[in-house]
Amino acid sequence: MRLIFLGPPGAGKGTQAKLLTERYGIPQLSTGDMLRSAVAQQTEVGQRAKAVMDAGQLVSDEIVNEIVSDRIDAPDCAKGFILDGYPRTVPQAIALDRMLDDKGLKLDAVIELKVDEAALVRRMENRVAETVAAGGTVRSDDNPEAFRRRLEEYRAKTAPLSQHYASTGQLKTVDGMADVDAVTAEIERVLA
Ligand code: AMP
Repeated sequence: MRLIFLGPPGAGKGTQAKLLTERYGIPQLSTGDMLRSAVAQQTEVGQRAKAVMDAGQLVSDEIVNEIVSDRIDAPDCAKGFILDGYPRTVPQAIALDRMLDDKGLKLDAVIELKVDEAALVRRMENRVAETVAAGGTVRSDDNPEAFRRRLEEYRAKTAPLSQHYASTGQLKTVDGMADVDAVTAEIERVLA
């Protein structure tokens, strides 16, 4: 099973992707997690990406395309994978189509989580509060200014992907405002 999750920041893509990894036994490939890990390890990519990420802007297509292409080749992706946070631009989607084609792989579905934007800021604030309460480290781009910028980036560059995948017939839209279990059930229904 090869899936893509689409949706604005805070829509619940990461949460749903994690739940599906257990159900299907395939990994969640979050480009945000991969980039944060590169930043923490101070790799060359991490050093290039840090300031861009902190500002809530998008890292270059070239960097993320390469990270994803390498990751997909790992043995744990043999049965499939769930892409969370990639592709995020139409050129990334085109690069992914070509990459999968070259590797002889096909996408099964693109799941878009539809959410009310007013709820997203509240979700981000809740995520920050929960992380702090659990003694964790808050993401450096989970602050109102960077979050607003991430939403703008989403509207300008990522939202057009819905049209891209609707035209290929792969898009499945799910109401992301319901509670977590109901959203998971709906995703399983559209995939069945
Ligand atoms: P996320 O964890 O998906 O919200 O991603 C956090 C940040 O990582 C984003 O705001 C971007 O700066 C960067 N990022 C993650 N995925 C991508 C991508 N596919 N293209 C460009 N930048 C990305």
